[in-house]
Amino acid sequence: MNNPTSPKPPRISVAAPVLDGNERKYVLECIDTTWISSLGRFIGEFEAAFAAYCGVKHAVAVNNGTTALHLALVALGIGPGDEVIVPSLTYIASANAVTYCGATPVLIDNDPRTFNLDPAKLEALITSRTKAIMPVHVYGQPVDMDPVMEIARRHGIKVVEDAAEAVGAKYKGRMTGSLGDCATFSFFGNKIITTGEGGMVTTDDGELAERLRLYRGQGMDPARRYWFPVVGYNYRMTNIQAAIGLAQLERVEHHLAARRGVADLYNAKLARLGNRLTIPHVEDFAEHVFWMYTVRLSDKLSKSRDQVMKDLDALGIETRPVFYPMHVLPPYEGLDSVPLPMADECAADGMNLPTHAGLTEADIDRIVDALDQVLV
Ligand SMILES: *Cc1c(COP(=O)(O)O)cnc(C)c1O
Repeated sequence: MNNPTSPKPPRISVAAPVLDGNERKYVLECIDTTWISSLGRFIGEFEAAFAAYCGVKHAVAVNNGTTALHLALVALGIGPGDEVIVPSLTYIASANAVTYCGATPVLIDNDPRTFNLDPAKLEALITSRTKAIMPVHVYGQPVDMDPVMEIARRHGIKVVEDAAEAVGAKYKGRMTGSLGDCATFSFFGNKIITTGEGGMVTTDDGELAERLRLYRGQGMDPARRYWFPVVGYNYRMTNIQAAIGLAQLERVEHHLAARRGVADLYNAKLARLGNRLTIPHVEDFAEHVFWMYTVRLSDKLSKSRDQVMKDLDALGIETRPVFYPMHVLPPYEGLDSVPLPMADECAADGMNLPTHAGLTEADIDRIVDALDQVLV
């Protein structure tokens, strides 16, 4: 292996986009027709195709997944003094979007097997100020949404799914993006499908969709050009982004099947590592899309998770730690109104293995061999 004359094997990255459909053709059409800004045929077509894919009436394209969350909360009327329940174990954008509104994120703990918020812990966090719940479908596995919706309806609270990591995931056969009052997606380069940077808000509520469009486009009245009834934002997606998105969506089943294949190979090949790590748990109700194949390392190992990641890196394999919980990050430190022990536990020993549609079986073999060598 360390023979200096043998070439180093290529690095395996944790995520990588696959652009093997009409992406190039559609982008060239934007350039050839000069429709490169936020008007053009691809925006409406991508929105319509994405709405149909999720089984909802409306999809509003935006410039990234974080603005999608902010826009959703603004359109729902979330503002200063309000509280929004957000899992502590998530990407920071979920909590930041709440902060942008002047509202307060209230952190909830997660199920240690799925990393998703634990609905049993929801009711205790609801106060007279709670305006919304933001279930995040962490790493591509849907949240147990029925109890979340039941509690939200009973208290008159809105539900915004953060489905940034879960394009195509299903809950009891229903698409993520169609389960809450609205849902948001990200099309960053490492997500299930990508537009480079981009995002989407989906909803069945026509009035909400109108407000989303109003606030997305600087607040301009659709019936009166250059008249602005509200302070809006410029959160528009470009035609070039939508061109790439439409091409990606045309091949979404292929992207999802490739990811399922990667997860199946990991499941089969990691078995020989015994209880040195725990493979992902998939709920009976879930169709998991494996944005990230996430393992938890045994506490019997002599090495820390961070040392394991360093050792894998030295072998040319990139991994990522499970999210640092919000309540340990400087902006949200001390915001844990209740203990969040499962978030702490998962963050200490959880690790994302390389997961993308371009991985080969030989790549997986290399990763599993490296884990076998490193996990002592
Ligand atoms: C990626 C992600 C976002 C933000 O999306 P961007 O497109 O990067 O702004 C929000 N929430 C979660 C859970 C994410 O994984």
